[in-house]
Amino acid sequence: MKKMTTLLLAVMPFVGSAQEAASSAIYTHQVGAYEIVVLPENQGQGNPSILIDATPEMLAQAIPDGTYPNAVNAFLVKTPAGNVLFDTGFGRNLTRNLAAAGVKPEDIGTLVITHAHGDHIGGMLTADGQRAFPRARLILSDTEKTYWVDTQKQEAATRAFNAYKENVQLVTPGKIEEPAGGDGIFYLAAPGHTPGHIVCLLRSKGEQLLIWGDLAHAMAIQMPFPQVSVRYDTDPVLAAKSRQEILKFVAEHHIPIAGMHVAFPGMGKIENNGKGGYRFIPFSARR
Ligand SMILES: [Zn+2]
Repeated sequence: MKKMTTLLLAVMPFVGSAQEAASSAIYTHQVGAYEIVVLPENQGQGNPSILIDATPEMLAQAIPDGTYPNAVNAFLVKTPAGNVLFDTGFGRNLTRNLAAAGVKPEDIGTLVITHAHGDHIGGMLTADGQRAFPRARLILSDTEKTYWVDTQKQEAATRAFNAYKENVQLVTPGKIEEPAGGDGIFYLAAPGHTPGHIVCLLRSKGEQLLIWGDLAHAMAIQMPFPQVSVRYDTDPVLAAKSRQEILKFVAEHHIPIAGMHVAFPGMGKIENNGKGGYRFIPFSARR
């Protein structure tokens, strides 16, 4: 008995500190003067049943064990002009992850929502329906607001939008191309997953990164076979068109990507695989 107690005492502090280390571990990536911090909400294994028109041959080749890693992420970007938060995940680990990055909710000056699904706007409100980021200006596309709030009157999106409505900037996203001008954050149209889904190109001091929202949900399949869409896509055909256009763009311009459903660390490079598809090379998770 004595021996067991000793063992427990020896093990428990280790378990405690390991958990603490895991929950406070942050991964950052520098783009010029911008520091990108991944804010993981969830890591898991995906189910191929969400895929549309993935043939048995594609699945056997891309995911021979029948599953693939996936995730839910938000991203914090620290810029010289202030902190920008891209999506809010479920709101599950968000506040704790931001605190680990040294950022309080009131330190977020801009909140960009790539689209209004629940796993992206879940952390916009507190439990009592107030905005979680009291000083943030909300940025989303005009089409996305019209679709979810004005047309669908989707309750969660409407409540989240209304909480910020004094301080909203609706943007009309641009075409998928290198934007003119210098440094900044550029909003580009990537419709299909939702009608107003946007991707966000960050550019600072000659470096770039594309935060691509939900351009892909199953990297292991949708990179080699970008024509495969998922059941969550409002318009799967348009989603595939946007995905192919953007993959071509980032591969040709050597622009790394960050994705809301890309497994930790949620960022990496895209290369043409020479077989009509692409390959994703994640940034090393070791620092
Ligand atoms: Zn999503």
